[in-house]
Amino acid sequence: MSDRALQAIRGMNDILPEAIAPWHFLEKTFRRLAKSYGYGEIRLPIVENLELFKRTIGEVTDIVEKEMYAFEDRNGDWLALRPEGTAGCVRAGIEHGMLYNQIQKVWYQGPMFRHERPQKGRYRQFYQVGIEAFGLAGPDVDAEMILMTARLWRELGLENKITLQLNSLGSTASRQAYRDRLVEYFNQHLDGLDEDSQRRLSSNPLRILDSKNPAMADLIAKAPNMLEHLDDDSKAHFQGLCDLLDSAGVTYTVNPRLVRGLDYYCYTVFEWVTDALGSQGTVCAGGRYDGLVAMLGGATTPAMGCALGLDRLVLLMGEEAYAEPIHAYLIHVGEAAKTQALNLAEELRDKLPGLRVQCHLGTGNYKNQFKKADKSGTRVALILGEDEMAKNEITVKYLREEKAQTSLGLQQAMALLESMIQEENAS
Ligand code: ATP
Ligand code: MG
Repeated sequence: MSDRALQAIRGMNDILPEAIAPWHFLEKTFRRLAKSYGYGEIRLPIVENLELFKRTIGEVTDIVEKEMYAFEDRNGDWLALRPEGTAGCVRAGIEHGMLYNQIQKVWYQGPMFRHERPQKGRYRQFYQVGIEAFGLAGPDVDAEMILMTARLWRELGLENKITLQLNSLGSTASRQAYRDRLVEYFNQHLDGLDEDSQRRLSSNPLRILDSKNPAMADLIAKAPNMLEHLDDDSKAHFQGLCDLLDSAGVTYTVNPRLVRGLDYYCYTVFEWVTDALGSQGTVCAGGRYDGLVAMLGGATTPAMGCALGLDRLVLLMGEEAYAEPIHAYLIHVGEAAKTQALNLAEELRDKLPGLRVQCHLGTGNYKNQFKKADKSGTRVALILGEDEMAKNEITVKYLREEKAQTSLGLQQAMALLESMIQEENAS
């Protein structure tokens, strides 16, 4: 290796303190909502056996074929960095006996890893939160999950930027029958398929419907319609979901070509999409996966889940609006004040939970400290000098608004800071 400065891995980004505010807001809001819908958090390992992802996601998906970070560890075991959260969640659920004959609602968060071509909204380490509900077969939980995500968009102020696409893949039998119809259709139009799609025709034909190749758009538009091939049970499930969404006032577009990348989905599939992020437009995707638990050796268990791409949501949110600058920066002038300033800041933190105050540390004259205060983004500077010490006062200087500087007693200063905190909580 050369002595060139070391850099982060391509597609794996640092998130710096100045950019963290929307992440915190998003994570905090999601956590509160998950709790309010009865989901409990499950924390899962980032590394699992490679076999887990091969078996669940499917050998012939993009993720397993091309995108997985897989490696042999020192014991010769094949492991992988998780590319998504559902597989690990189901593995854990079975392992801890959480799924058999019971209802379980869990959520998870954390980094996922896929070796894709990095671009805006598409990274090699990216972040998801996900929710999974086990043991519920009806469309009510599908609807509730969609309502929960819709509520999240409202709380983030994104409701006008994101729309819902909905489809049903039908029961396993229904899906199989449709798959045969589709293969027959594409076989009659083999010359219209690109190389990727010809390969998928035998391995994963539904994925052809997902192709972004404009040359195939017409062929795909004329393909047999999935929704017209649903069996009665699948139709009833889908209708039930649509009725619930209608009654809740959720608008959606039925898209019979929405298939999702992974093999394990059945019945409901949905995506929340935006047109503000180019081809990285899906911010949340999910669906029903009734077969997956049994596939991993558990008892047959209906399940429904979705995952939200936090990186893309943060891009949509923007950074400015979520910043939380400090309320006060404490400047001290003179040796005695320097000693007292740390204690004063502690006292303020004791009395005013929620206060964000920064005490000047290190050296620096008044001018120098003032510059630091201004740069910190603080709303006010609190100045503690010899005069103030003698009078038992503190000088308040407003840095972001046209207000005269005042000198206040400690009680008054505290009342002022408290009102700043309350103002913030009310907004
Ligand atoms: P895409 O079609 O954009 O590749 P996907 O179908 O592969 O997405 P899922 O496996 O359903 O994505 O993951 C759920 C969500 O996670 C996506 O909707 C997206 O918001 C986010 N996501 C997936 N891959 C990435 C990535 N490489 N970088 C950032 N976010 C991602
Ligand atoms: Mg992908």
